[in-house]
Amino acid sequence: MPIALVLEEKNKLALREIDLPDDVGPGDVRIAVDTVGVCGSDVHYYTHGKIGPFVVNAPMVLGHEAAGIVTELGEGVSHLAVGDRVCMEPGIPNMASKATKLGVYNVDPDVRFWATPPVHGCLTPSVVHPAAFTYKLPENVTFAEGAMVEPFAIGMQAATRARIKPGDVALVTGAGPIGIMVALAALAGGCSKVYISDLVDEKLGVAANYGNIHPINVTKDDAAEVVRAGTSGWGADVVFECAGAAKSVQTALEAVAPAGCVVWVGMPVDPVPLDIVLAQSKEIRMETVFRYANMYDRAIELLASGKVDLKPLISATFAFSDSVKAFDRAVEARPTDVKIQINMQDA
Ligand SMILES: [Zn+2]
Repeated sequence: MPIALVLEEKNKLALREIDLPDDVGPGDVRIAVDTVGVCGSDVHYYTHGKIGPFVVNAPMVLGHEAAGIVTELGEGVSHLAVGDRVCMEPGIPNMASKATKLGVYNVDPDVRFWATPPVHGCLTPSVVHPAAFTYKLPENVTFAEGAMVEPFAIGMQAATRARIKPGDVALVTGAGPIGIMVALAALAGGCSKVYISDLVDEKLGVAANYGNIHPINVTKDDAAEVVRAGTSGWGADVVFECAGAAKSVQTALEAVAPAGCVVWVGMPVDPVPLDIVLAQSKEIRMETVFRYANMYDRAIELLASGKVDLKPLISATFAFSDSVKAFDRAVEARPTDVKIQINMQDA
């Protein structure tokens, strides 16, 4: 039996043998996993045992941000070859569903997503995955970067939903990993500059190491005021709300320019009030984001071109044998940590 990092139940991880599906069917590939990123959702399942309606009722392998090498091809796979370096999109929709046919497979109710109960994740040395959701990495994109494509795809989805125009000024509320991914995607998508707000200076510092990202510490300054001061009083063409807090939801509506756009990326734990009249008085457009669809190819192209560099966001890399330590480090939530990764090569 293969070994994997298994969430036995809330607060209990084990690196142990577990029976996993292993048949390479038509259209599938087998992949030797090289690198897996630890995501906030993995950590949340570890510390809370559930996310909203998704409850861990049986042992589940964690991990959904992965890159590796193709080791076996299923029948009919022609766009990949054994030895290809690849990254994998973790959500597999029902290919016959209405959502998939419409191109919005991320909102297919039948989607099976790695490490979302009851589906096992990819923190195991070998996985079988549909070739259609497996993407070849260019020579100059590392496995570590390949494993960053998943969180970056959320930024790409947000920037795409915003319909950015060249030169737009954006505000991102929340400088966590997703906030930073969104800021980088917004710049790559044509924004001239991006303000980013948070409560914690260290997080803002990581973001502000990139050019054209301007930090706002909301314990000292009002984000909407700073944005207005920097835009001749007009406001941000696009606000990406990535904090998921009632206060920042209000800030988003205050900071957005007339006829601008607010993209709701963060997920408030409980329903939050929304000032509809303020939104109406500026006739703003609102968009929402749920994961992503059709973003992997574009995200990989941006990494390969050098327009987007995610390497500075990889804060620490642990060996597979130290996976539990990697998770405990992620639980610490050090303010300077953006992404913890696990290297599977000692498996
Ligand atoms: Zn993730």
